Amino acid sequence: MATGQVLNPGDHIYTECLGGSYYHHGIYVGRGLVTNPNTGKTRTITNAVIHFLGLDKEGKVKKTKPQCQTCFYKPKGSGIVLTCLDCFHEGNGLYRYEYDVSLLSFTFKTSGSCTPWSCYDPNTVIKRAYDYLRDQNFGDYNFVFNNCEHFATKCKMGKARCNQALWGTGLPGALVYNVTRRLTKDILW
Ligand SMILES: [Zn+2]
Repeated sequence: MATGQVLNPGDHIYTECLGGSYYHHGIYVGRGLVTNPNTGKTRTITNAVIHFLGLDKEGKVKKTKPQCQTCFYKPKGSGIVLTCLDCFHEGNGLYRYEYDVSLLSFTFKTSGSCTPWSCYDPNTVIKRAYDYLRDQNFGDYNFVFNNCEHFATKCKMGKARCNQALWGTGLPGALVYNVTRRLTKDILW
């Protein structure tokens, strides 16, 4: 995040992975209840993020990581998870995904960072994220057709969108927007 920016519960956030070759997305929900699997005791954390992890991209790679002492998260495979913010971004760059941007500014943004569509109010976004967390009904992770960005945009605005998976992150936003829109509208919307 740029200096001075504050995260608000309901924000769609994303972080760089593998040196910025792709981004991991999630919904910042603020307060979250976590359970210590060793003792069964629960604890409230104040910097919780709900996000969709894929087995291939995250689960396999990070399985050797020790259990987090803040949120008790330990990678164990694909699914919707609630972790602390530190587990989400792991020290890499953290950004807020902007909604309601004008089409003009969207044209000049890098793909995967913003959308001209408007989003639900924060409470609705948080509830949608928690519902998916509870029900684990977002489907199987697929790097192209059902990934972490689809999950976050689905929570934010009810539509699954993804700019980055098909085209990488270096193309001008408008081109990505137009091409992916044409290619994916029948599948995703
Ligand atoms: Zn953690």
